[in-house]
Amino acid sequence: MNTRVCKRCDNEKDITEFYKHKKSLEGRRRVCIQCYTETCKTYEARTIGDRQCKLCGVTKTITDFSKDPGNPEGRKVWCKECLKKKTTYYRNKDNHTKETYRLKNREAYKKYSTENRGKIQARWALRKSRKLRAVPKWADLNKIKEVYQECRRLTEETGIKYHVDHIIPLVNPIVSGLHVLENLRIIPATENLKKNNSYEIN
Ligand SMILES: [Zn+2]
Ligand SMILES: [Zn+2]
Repeated sequence: MNTRVCKRCDNEKDITEFYKHKKSLEGRRRVCIQCYTETCKTYEARTIGDRQCKLCGVTKTITDFSKDPGNPEGRKVWCKECLKKKTTYYRNKDNHTKETYRLKNREAYKKYSTENRGKIQARWALRKSRKLRAVPKWADLNKIKEVYQECRRLTEETGIKYHVDHIIPLVNPIVSGLHVLENLRIIPATENLKKNNSYEIN
């Protein structure tokens, strides 16, 4: 009886348990029919079905993901589209979250910015203050963020526009304020505009 040892399961089986394959040695596959079918099934499982992109969060068909043998599922975790945008994505690490939302889709970003306006305003204020070198090392950035969120909440609840004001303005010919909790207060927008960067020294 002509037998052969399967390369995968290591079982010695009758030669008829191996598919005919002209290109293979002795005209038969090195893997038994059973193992061969299993391999095909796993391969098929990899080529059908959906997968959620880790970057944009969109569920796409598996073919929208590039093959990656190094990955357990044999595919990249980012969709092809996102991979293309990879360079843009890493250009500014600060923009990480922002970029993610932007990629997801404009609508989602719009929703995010409406819901997190306080956070965004806090971020802008911080950026501006950093430019002016008004952020000391001891500034509690989380507390500051809370002030901006509280300001946003007030605006939404009352319908009156509130601003976060620097008691001592960041830019002033005589004194320059700091972007710190102690120098912040929430005041109605109209008052803030009236103030117009002036600061009375008593
Ligand atoms: Zn086998
Ligand atoms: Zn994607």
